[in-house]
Amino acid sequence: MFEYFRPTRQAPSLDLISIEQLVQDGIRGLIIDLDNTMTPWNDVEVVPKVAEWFIKVKAAGIQACVVSNNKKRQRVAVVAERIGIPFVFRATKPRRRAFRAGMGLLGTGPKDTAVIGDQLFTDILGGNRLGLYTILVTPINEHEFIGTRVVRQIEKVLVWMMKRFAPAKPFSPKIH
Ligand SMILES: [Mg+2]
Repeated sequence: MFEYFRPTRQAPSLDLISIEQLVQDGIRGLIIDLDNTMTPWNDVEVVPKVAEWFIKVKAAGIQACVVSNNKKRQRVAVVAERIGIPFVFRATKPRRRAFRAGMGLLGTGPKDTAVIGDQLFTDILGGNRLGLYTILVTPINEHEFIGTRVVRQIEKVLVWMMKRFAPAKPFSPKIH
């Protein structure tokens, strides 16, 4: 039962997945989740370190595609086209046909394909059902959430300190 939810490997983010390791493990194709794996949820921004990681993937001779459950074709297409890779939208992960569609685009099979995603119940479960190599990444929004919390705490301290030690000057009186 639990084997279905256990990824082969884990990484803090997409760009920290070792391409050398993938090559060493015989991986030739990547099925990559979109929301919270490649970009923040429903965002089309691809950060430079992710774009650079994809260049290295290509240079290593590994094929990649986006397989997303997102229902909006345009949203998935914009990101996939920026990277220059094919995509499947409305993919119905964890259903096996979603991953078969990905492997169809890549021209790879269960032995040399890895699934990368942030969700156990869609990405990891689905990949494991077909016996694929699976990699769980921490959702991008979770990173941001922790960051935001820290920033807010710092903000609070700064506001308190300013009030206490350096009160803001009042507006200068109107000159008529
Ligand atoms: Mg996701």
